[in-house]
Amino acid sequence: MKQQEMKYADSCYMVDHELAPLDAAYRASVAYLKGLSSARVQSDVSLETLFAALDGGVPEAGLDAARVVDELVGQTNGGHNGSTGGRFFGWVIGGGLPSALAADWLVSTWDQNAAAAACGPAVAVIEEITGRWVKELLRLPMGASFAFTTGCQMAHVTCLMAARHALLGKAGWNVEEEGLIGAPSLRVVTSDQHHGSIERACQLLGIGRKAIKVMATNARGQVEAQTLAKILEGQGATTIVVLQAGDLNIGAFDRFRELIPIAREAGAWIHVDGAFGLWLRAGCRDAALDGVDLADSWATDAHKWLNVPYDCGIAVIADPAAHRAATATTASYLVHANQVRDQMDWTPEWSRRARSVPVYAALRQLGRAGLVDLLERTCRHAHAIVTRTGDLEGAEVVWEPTINQGLVRFLDETSPQCQEAHDRRTDQVIAAINASGEALFTGTTWRGRRAMRVSVCNWRTNEADVERVVAAARKAIAD
Ligand SMILES: *Cc1c(COP(=O)(O)O)cnc(C)c1O
Repeated sequence: MKQQEMKYADSCYMVDHELAPLDAAYRASVAYLKGLSSARVQSDVSLETLFAALDGGVPEAGLDAARVVDELVGQTNGGHNGSTGGRFFGWVIGGGLPSALAADWLVSTWDQNAAAAACGPAVAVIEEITGRWVKELLRLPMGASFAFTTGCQMAHVTCLMAARHALLGKAGWNVEEEGLIGAPSLRVVTSDQHHGSIERACQLLGIGRKAIKVMATNARGQVEAQTLAKILEGQGATTIVVLQAGDLNIGAFDRFRELIPIAREAGAWIHVDGAFGLWLRAGCRDAALDGVDLADSWATDAHKWLNVPYDCGIAVIADPAAHRAATATTASYLVHANQVRDQMDWTPEWSRRARSVPVYAALRQLGRAGLVDLLERTCRHAHAIVTRTGDLEGAEVVWEPTINQGLVRFLDETSPQCQEAHDRRTDQVIAAINASGEALFTGTTWRGRRAMRVSVCNWRTNEADVERVVAAARKAIAD
């Protein structure tokens, strides 16, 4: 026993032992990245195979650390989707910029608890700077507060916590002290194109999903002014209005310049879901975001269009006092004028990862010019993929991208009048493209019809990828 303890203690301080697993991880990472262009995009390893490979029961005896890493690499081989690569267009998923990936490694190496400045001074300063940069790049009010969360889902939760505090506070109710039982009830009104994370935010905050009132949208997926005015009539002061800055099917933007004053006049809190679309404020196709800065809160993601590895969402809130009152564990309503914040006063979490560091690195690598180029390039590739696959025999464009999202439908030419046949054909062709390993797309039902969603978020996607994807679609239609 004594001897075993000694051995363990020794190995902790033996640099070689410590470096071997890191070296193994580095080599495996390089091989993975180098293999992206030739590897399948969609994993073709079954879940059964993965379970069998990975689960040998609770490990009783330990294993050499480097071997753990080597085996992890071997056991998961082929079990990853190639979302890091340039031919992945499913959901809305970004890749990782080299600087952001490397910075993410450093975050784990430093292993700071980014809960408070005292726990990690350098990462607290980085978070402060990065929050300011994000506000400046997205042209949001510079007096706003911010929080780095796990994703846009928790950014919504953070923003709506502040909304709940402010609206109920105006009604004379202290929700942080009293809870929601007996409180005036809140409503959330949002477009019929809203993301499911809005529902879950309401579920988590005790607002409840039934409190969500959905507004119909026009052909471009936008809420009309009279629709919003009507739903707010007489009930604005207890309402959170959630507007859309880029929905995941067609990249729809509500008309902020027109809608926000209506909601403001009614006394509502205005929140914007800009998971990826808000990034266009950096200066690319940004006319659709005119007036978005007039809202009360904004939620976005760094792990989508900014291409930071998972996970990182960002909440920005115009009223720092409402934000802090809703999230801090101390009751002070004052915003301290310290040089650096204790991050946990602004986030739902206590201990947390220094997830702003890869964002800082990504912004430094790109600069404003590189960010705009990334946004513009991905929009252009999305347009090319949608229009070129939509031009193929037996296909049609359902939504020509105005940003980086578009829709294509595949037609069953044996029954031209039958929508269900076209729906089936669309799912078949998507499955065939994915099975080829050349690209990965996901399907959606938009305005009652099945379509292939084309979402281009990855910094790696280039012209050669577009050619390969169009060729894969042509082949999938022909086979
Ligand atoms: C992805 C997405 C979300 C949820 O973001 P997560 O980062 O996955 O939590 C919310 N809204 C929209 C429009 C999205 O695309």
